[in-house]
Formats: sequence, structure tokens, C-alpha cells
Amino acid sequence: MNKIKEITKKIKKFRDERDWMQFHDPKNMAISIIIEASELLEHFQWKTKEEVQQYLKANKDEVKDEIADIAMYLLNLLIILD
Ligand SMILES: [Mg+2]
Repeated sequence: MNKIKEITKKIKKFRDERDWMQFHDPKNMAISIIIEASELLEHFQWKTKEEVQQYLKANKDEVKDEIADIAMYLLNLLIILD
């Protein structure tokens, strides 16, 4: 099974275990993608290129979490749109 299919299957399972399908429509997923993208941007706001490099050394996991949030909502949107 390719990686995307495997991740998609896990996302569906996670969603269904929490009965969240009722909240998963294209509008809510699109809004959520932008909110998470904004959370990602907050890590870099006002920092110089050098400051970003320093910041990432200490905060890479937090940044990765935001990237994962974006990817998760993006995949959820793809699931909904089939
Ligand atoms: Mg987030």
C-alpha cells in the first residue's frame, strides 16, 4: 500500500473513532488548512533568515507539528472530495 493511502486510512480511522465526520465538509476543511498555515507562519513572523535558522534548531518539532496539521486537513479535504 502506498504511503498516502496508508496515512489516509489512519486519518479516516482517527476521524471516525471520534465521530468527527459531521464536522468535515469542504468549507470547514479549507478554513482549517488556512488556520493551520497561519499557525505555521507565526513561527517565522518578524524573524530574519538567520533568526529562523536559530529558531528551527530549538523548535523544529513544533514547526513539524504545524506542517502535519496542514497535511492532515489537506488530506481530509481530498477524502471528502473523493
Ligand atoms: Mg496547529
